[in-house]
Amino acid sequence: MTEAVETTLRGPEAYSLARRAVEAMEAAQVWPTPLNFELWLQYLGEPDGPLGREIQRMLSAGEPFTEAVAEMLAAEYLPRARLTEEIRDAGRVLDRELSSVSAAISRAHKAQSDYGRTLQGAAGSLESADGAPQLRAIVSDLSDATHRIQRDNEDLERKLEVSTREIARLSEHLEQVRRDSMTDALTNLANRKAFDEQLESACETALTEGARLSLAVLDIDHFKRFNDTWGHQTGDQVLRYVASVLGKAATGSRVAARYGGEEFAMIFPRESLPDVEAALEGIRKEIGSRALRRRSTNDDLGAVTVSIGFAHRRGGESASSLLGRADAALYASKRSGRNRVTCADWLDDAA
Ligand code: GH3
Ligand code: MG
Ligand code: MG
Repeated sequence: MTEAVETTLRGPEAYSLARRAVEAMEAAQVWPTPLNFELWLQYLGEPDGPLGREIQRMLSAGEPFTEAVAEMLAAEYLPRARLTEEIRDAGRVLDRELSSVSAAISRAHKAQSDYGRTLQGAAGSLESADGAPQLRAIVSDLSDATHRIQRDNEDLERKLEVSTREIARLSEHLEQVRRDSMTDALTNLANRKAFDEQLESACETALTEGARLSLAVLDIDHFKRFNDTWGHQTGDQVLRYVASVLGKAATGSRVAARYGGEEFAMIFPRESLPDVEAALEGIRKEIGSRALRRRSTNDDLGAVTVSIGFAHRRGGESASSLLGRADAALYASKRSGRNRVTCADWLDDAA
């Protein structure tokens, strides 16, 4: 579900949206399964979004809304559903492996105690044994039992090996899912969710260490015009280019992220204000001085510029307050002509 709809679901319109979703499902003769409900909430919350348009198209074409269709729409338009699905699958595999391991362990346990009893029995028989044939029979029984337990142990080892491999593969996959959920697919930078978490933890660290912390927000100038002129795909290439400059500048404990659309953000832990300003000036100049060319046609696209605002954390300041001041500084950069770096503290001093 998109953030806009998530927000609506926790606001004054939440119940009316939910009621409308149920009514609309009934009118369309669609079962109110949890998945359909989620799809309908999303559709009614953003009727002009991609999912909304697709559902409207299907309904007006009279296409049947089967469970398979719902699954497909969810996979395509509810990215978090896909993630949940993967985690659920991983959980199932893990359950299966763990129960196979525990079954193998209890089989081995039983085999060991059977073996123990066989040994005890043999000890008793040995005392009362007279003559070689009886001894031979006892030894042969013991040898059979020993072979059996060896086979069981080898079996257990093999099962544990398979399970260990499977669990390692699974944890690698989960790690990949976790990384994906934290990464912006277009630019490969940290996404907003990852960034928000990192900023919170950077603020906590700054508080406990009494260390410095700066936050910058960057926004591409007149990017709408750029998209309108050159098309969205070329716009995406520019986003990747800007991201690559930020990624390169994000050395050490700095963090660069795509905050959304054509907005980026950077965290600078433990750096002085002049150092942060110099780094941001470097980024601004590098982006603005590059003559961009469209890859497919080699058209000269000119250069894009970015406006930047940053703020140096004040003692005890929260992440959201820091973000608010950096945003205000960005806005000041925009207002005073774009393609510049403004520090929130300069604004405060001027005020
Ligand atoms: P300003 O200098 O005031 O920031 O002007 P602007 O045009 O950059 O700002 P505005 O917020 O009006 O428009 C942002 C544009 O960014 C709108 C949209 O076309 C573009 N945009 C946002 N996300 C993406 C994206 O993922 N890919 C592409 N190609 N463009 C995007
Ligand atoms: Mg913007
Ligand atoms: Mg912009």
